Amino acid sequence: MSIQGFMKRTRWCGELRKDDAGKTVILNGWVHRVRRFGRLVFILLRDRTGLVQVVVRKGSPAFDAAKKLQPEYVVAVKGTVRERPPKEVNPEMPTGEIEVIAEELQILSTSKPVPIPIHDESLMSTTSEAVRLRYRYLDLRRPKMFRNILMRAKIVAAMREYFDSLGFIEVETPYLARSTPEGARDFLVPSRLHPGKFYALTQSPQLFKQLLMIAGFERYYQVARCFRDEDPRADRQPEFTQFDVEMSFVTREDVMEVVEGAMKHVLKKVFGEDIETPFPRLTYWEAIRRYGSDKPDTRFGLELRDLEISEGTAKRYLVVEGGKGITEYLAAEAVKVSGEHGVRVDVITEGDLSTYGAESGDAVIVAEGDYLSVSEALGRLRLSAASKLGLIDKTRRSFIWIIDFPLFEIDKETGKLAARHHPFTSPNPEDIHLLDKEPLKVRSLAYDLVLNGEEVAGGSIRIHDKELQMKILRMLGLSEEEAMNRYGFLLEALDYGPPPHGGIAFGLDRLVAVLLGEPTIREVIAFPKNKDMADPLTGAPAEAPEEYLRDLYWLQIKL
Ligand code: ASP
Repeated sequence: MSIQGFMKRTRWCGELRKDDAGKTVILNGWVHRVRRFGRLVFILLRDRTGLVQVVVRKGSPAFDAAKKLQPEYVVAVKGTVRERPPKEVNPEMPTGEIEVIAEELQILSTSKPVPIPIHDESLMSTTSEAVRLRYRYLDLRRPKMFRNILMRAKIVAAMREYFDSLGFIEVETPYLARSTPEGARDFLVPSRLHPGKFYALTQSPQLFKQLLMIAGFERYYQVARCFRDEDPRADRQPEFTQFDVEMSFVTREDVMEVVEGAMKHVLKKVFGEDIETPFPRLTYWEAIRRYGSDKPDTRFGLELRDLEISEGTAKRYLVVEGGKGITEYLAAEAVKVSGEHGVRVDVITEGDLSTYGAESGDAVIVAEGDYLSVSEALGRLRLSAASKLGLIDKTRRSFIWIIDFPLFEIDKETGKLAARHHPFTSPNPEDIHLLDKEPLKVRSLAYDLVLNGEEVAGGSIRIHDKELQMKILRMLGLSEEEAMNRYGFLLEALDYGPPPHGGIAFGLDRLVAVLLGEPTIREVIAFPKNKDMADPLTGAPAEAPEEYLRDLYWLQIKL
């Protein structure tokens, strides 16, 4: 029988129920499992909606083909739905009350034994990520992975629906562009037609969305890919997706309110959950003081406390109730964290702990050093202790805004002033007078949205005053010429009636991962790169064909 003439599905596997009993159906799908007995073959048939049991009896015209089946063969089955007798009902399966008695069966394609245990999630723990990514199309056949990618699509659809309803316009901006700085290295693309010149892949649509505001679009969004050539770091991808938003004539509060509405809509529409808005707000320094992090996990307490604070050094601590039981673990974590943050950390479990407000059986973690490093070190130990002691309620969704970030920070490598967010973020007007004398004290109009201890969105009100923008760029060490050279197109546009504007970008991969409770963004990206930023499936990055390099003839000089 030609494949062209295959029997086309009339129903989906996962949707058959008791009231379909007696109906004739055609199913298309993959053999999830097959069990053969002398007179019977049981097939668990899978399509993207789920599984259903198909029974082939000896004597059925389908029997010969059924005997040949192996897992992951692709078949078309015609049969009659039958209600299972009570003792054969499988309550674990949504389709467990019925089965399909096969009358015809076509094998549409065969499969080698698969290197991924698609049929048994419990075996996944022994499957390496390298194998999963090498055979991603098989990994994505797992119902769990399909669900992740499906939920991602639903979340994006709900976001679009919400922003569309508020009059936002979806606009695509270039990927091949001039450098758009977000604090990472650019991926460069050599231009064949302009020898020696490069496009930079956009690190974010930041400058283009600002230009759209100057163009009078008022409300924009885009599902945008962003490219950042960063060193491999925890759970980053060289390309990732932002749900990017910009609005004109708004204050910080307006943007935050729109974002809260978006989260409310997504949670309701996709998860059927009601969440409370507005979300709590914490200033950056309050977050550091209480949680030792600018993306605090507020699903549990365990707040940091002060012991002694003096000019230049701070002694702060954390009381871990019942922490004595995990002393060794805490001590090991303390050593790690102490090294990484360059502070002294002690874990105390013996003696009189009452000065710390602790009791016997508790652990007190004391850290000493500069205020920020001490707080961040304790912030990390706070997370380790909470997860080890099971204090984190995984069913909770804890949103919180962090506001009043410092506008600048000192770049660790260069020792120079750097933008904490990006150079187009507006200083808080109340702090403008500090710009010249105490720039590190200037607060910005930036805001981050944190969910369960992960940053899921970040944005700011932008500078729309050319003089101020030039001044900030100067403070960041750019000469007038350099500023014009890099951002001339934006600076020039600021001469032509820029409206006050601001916006935000959701890290879509991260948002989806946190909402689905997945530990890494690789679980919610169909074809991610591995931790070394390579793709084991396609073999990217790869050598370029010789003739390409020849065409980019300036490259030949160096080869
Ligand atoms: N462009 C910013 C970023 O990528 C987000 C924003 O300010 O809207 O973080």
